[in-house]
Amino acid sequence: MTDVSVHEVGTRDGLQSISTFVPTEVKKSWCRAEFHAGVREIEVCSLVPLKLIPQFSDAGEVVRHALALEGLTVAALVPNLKGAEKAAELGVHKINYVISVSESHNRANVRRSTEESAADFERIVALCRSRPKEARPVVVGGLATALGCTMEGKVPEDRVRRLAVRLAEAGADEIILADTVGYGDPAMVRRLFGAVTRDLGAVPITAHFHDTRGLGLANVLAALDAGIRAFDASLAGLGGCPYAPGASGNISTEDLVFMLESMGLKTGVNLEKLLAVRRTVCAALGDQPFHGAIAKAGLPKGFTVATSA
Ligand code: ZN
Repeated sequence: MTDVSVHEVGTRDGLQSISTFVPTEVKKSWCRAEFHAGVREIEVCSLVPLKLIPQFSDAGEVVRHALALEGLTVAALVPNLKGAEKAAELGVHKINYVISVSESHNRANVRRSTEESAADFERIVALCRSRPKEARPVVVGGLATALGCTMEGKVPEDRVRRLAVRLAEAGADEIILADTVGYGDPAMVRRLFGAVTRDLGAVPITAHFHDTRGLGLANVLAALDAGIRAFDASLAGLGGCPYAPGASGNISTEDLVFMLESMGLKTGVNLEKLLAVRRTVCAALGDQPFHGAIAKAGLPKGFTVATSA
């Protein structure tokens, strides 16, 4: 039993920011090794048009490999109905559909309005519900730029709340609130996650933070205070921001696990094994910006590594 779920997204958020193609074997062994370290949910790819992100041209093979790891929840990010159809065909357990709360960001990303994207979500829910129960993926409504946007700056909290409710009413099994560009601070996070939690009732919420401005783990703590018990993170903090070259990416999975386990919150992830995965993956990825404090400093004396993995 775990207290907090840690979702690896480096295989998607991290890899999409690497322009050179990462060999399929590296992606597969990354998924496998993290699973053996105790991670139980991985967003293994993005099902976007291949000409946009050729990095995911091997998505089918990676998904099939991940699906063979019994007990792993395999998620894929999709930008539209077509991606969702592909995801359902491949048999992923979870479809993470993303809409940007910021109108400009949504147009830049998927060339349509937030409203059009929200309407598409209804079609994705219908698609999933039309499948036989045992082959029905969990449908997740993800809200990008929920704490700010590089184009619009502040994003109104009311707008985030309305969209979250809209997606939940449309049939989202879960919601992700994402600080895509690292604009959030702990006070904002506590307020927004608290409000959306109250609005949504029983619909689980995952927090997705980027450490672009160094507030990633502080934001995790604020979200924990608001009752959030699921977090996205990226091995070695991969996943830079296209608008801030050189900036750090997602919160690092290793630092997240370290903080949670230090606080007595069980993640089920064996940190020594996870650090070994990091070493292998970083060596395979070569010259990339890697982040994370615990990998540099090492575990403190007396730290107890989770044994459940
Ligand atoms: Zn992200």
